[in-house]
Amino acid sequence: MSKLYIDIGGTYLRSELLEKGKVHKEKILSHRVSLNEYLEKRLKRYPDITLIGISFAGQVDHGKILSAPNITVEKADIKRYIEKKYGVVLKIDNDLNCALLAEKQHTEEKNMALLYIGTGMGSAVLEQGNVVRGERNLAYEIGHVPFKKAPFKCGCGKDNCLELFSSGSGLEKWYAYYGLPPMTIEELKCSGDKHAKKIYKNFLEGILRASATIVTLSNPKVLILGGGIIISNPFLKEKVEKKIRKYALSSNLEGLDIALSQFKNASMEGAKLL
Ligand SMILES: [Zn+2]
Repeated sequence: MSKLYIDIGGTYLRSELLEKGKVHKEKILSHRVSLNEYLEKRLKRYPDITLIGISFAGQVDHGKILSAPNITVEKADIKRYIEKKYGVVLKIDNDLNCALLAEKQHTEEKNMALLYIGTGMGSAVLEQGNVVRGERNLAYEIGHVPFKKAPFKCGCGKDNCLELFSSGSGLEKWYAYYGLPPMTIEELKCSGDKHAKKIYKNFLEGILRASATIVTLSNPKVLILGGGIIISNPFLKEKVEKKIRKYALSSNLEGLDIALSQFKNASMEGAKLL
């Protein structure tokens, strides 16, 4: 009996195949893959797979993929299709909801919010121990809350989303727009270029607004900051701690803890808990 866990992020697809006490790990670029083909290849190669857990950077509801910004999906009703054809159990949820499951197990907090900034910007909220899902599992799409007008469009079709200013994919769009080379956050922060200064200012303000909006709307005990960009730039947590007061309702800040995610890959760990 083998288990296959997959984390499909904005940039990479990572998988862990647990087979007879051994773990086979793989990392490939998400946009080079078709999800159906990937799954079917593995299922044919390892016919003793009984369980597949997937953390998916995109919208998912009851095993159906509603939007797939980073990977080709031929059969949106992925759970039903794979389970019926191969007789396995397939569980899939949004990557932030998966990360929330891992953080929940780690902290044992009942009221918690996550803000992850990596390729995209995402959030998830735990209320009284339950993941807040909404009608179609689309609650807390913080990255698509309006912020400022940009001269290009977001993957969702709008041109004013927070994600356009405060995410890895958003920053890349700004660098291309101003003809700047790709920069790390540290390089952006220290750059003397006037466009780079503006990009950095908006990037920071977007993170503050996103953090404050989540805290004001969901009233968590802990706000956990994670995702590739935050983990590699922990000073961003200090910025949030210092400046969130300017943007959030002050009563919601009382007793609030702001913490950095302790996971290397919380979404993958959460896929194992689905
Ligand atoms: Zn958007």
